[in-house]
Amino acid sequence: MTYAVTVADLSAPGGPFELRQREISEPGPDEVLVRLVATGVCHTDLVTAARPIVPGQILGHEGAGVVEAVGNDVGAVEPGDHVVLSYSWCGECANCSRGRMAYCARFLELNYVGERFFGQSSFATFTLTSERNVIRVAKDLPFEFLAPLGCGVQTGAGAVLNVLKPEKGSALAVFALGAVGLSAVMAANIAGCDRIIAIDPNPARRALALELGATEAVDPADAPRGAMDYSVECVGHPDVVKAAVKSLASPGQCVTLGFKGQRNPVELDQMALMNGRGVRGSIEGDGIPQRFIPELIKYHRQGRLPVERMVRTYAFAEINEAVAAAGRGDAIKPVLVF
Ligand SMILES: [Zn+2]
Ligand SMILES: [Zn+2]
Repeated sequence: MTYAVTVADLSAPGGPFELRQREISEPGPDEVLVRLVATGVCHTDLVTAARPIVPGQILGHEGAGVVEAVGNDVGAVEPGDHVVLSYSWCGECANCSRGRMAYCARFLELNYVGERFFGQSSFATFTLTSERNVIRVAKDLPFEFLAPLGCGVQTGAGAVLNVLKPEKGSALAVFALGAVGLSAVMAANIAGCDRIIAIDPNPARRALALELGATEAVDPADAPRGAMDYSVECVGHPDVVKAAVKSLASPGQCVTLGFKGQRNPVELDQMALMNGRGVRGSIEGDGIPQRFIPELIKYHRQGRLPVERMVRTYAFAEINEAVAAAGRGDAIKPVLVF
């Protein structure tokens, strides 16, 4: 038996996407067939679409939907379950066995260069994925708010809650207010930071950050210097990384999240690091999806992680409009609905 699937395929590097018909087979023993209901558009989709790593690969890595069928060896989910799809990990390497799935030895192969993008390729009406890619969730939650939890929200919120772990009363700055940065703002609020400075050139995004828990919102020209316990950098541009490190008091910590998909040298003053300052990167906010996504849902239910404030929905057929809106910065988190 095969399933007819509509996928959004890149017609050429840089797009546009074209909807095409394909067929996929029944799930193998360890596979899960998911009918997508919503898929977020993440910055990494845009970066990869501009320079495809694997020709013909279907992008999309913030899927949410309903389990349609499972293979014989699958025990974590069953048909009818609602699931969030997240990144893929092997479960066998040294890092996976220590709970560091975001640094799985096979991360590149399973998420970027493999047959399925992030193990899910969810710009599609159906996808075959693995048990490790899916997180079962309650059935009362809207899929369009669940989808972004799988990557963007996990990355920004995880950078704060899993990586930096600010003490109550800390001062934390967030550089760039896309979905990742705004998730970091909400998480800093959850963590009990006293001062949360949101930095972005876009006044509308600064205004939203203030509604989502930032205590101050400023233009990059007015970014703090030498004042913060923690900073979160969400662009990856060398000047922004430098500004995020410069914002730190001694001994502050910076986490950089901006994905460039290529070498990206940044010049830092070693003297500034001597005073206990540190900078590190993070993939997916160090989140173990099966543990962290339920935690994010708990915060969402408490009203402390209002993901819906960032979401704008588009029909699947409007994927090129959704991507263009994300590129222009008009939509913070476009979510395709099927
Ligand atoms: Zn692994
Ligand atoms: Zn992503």
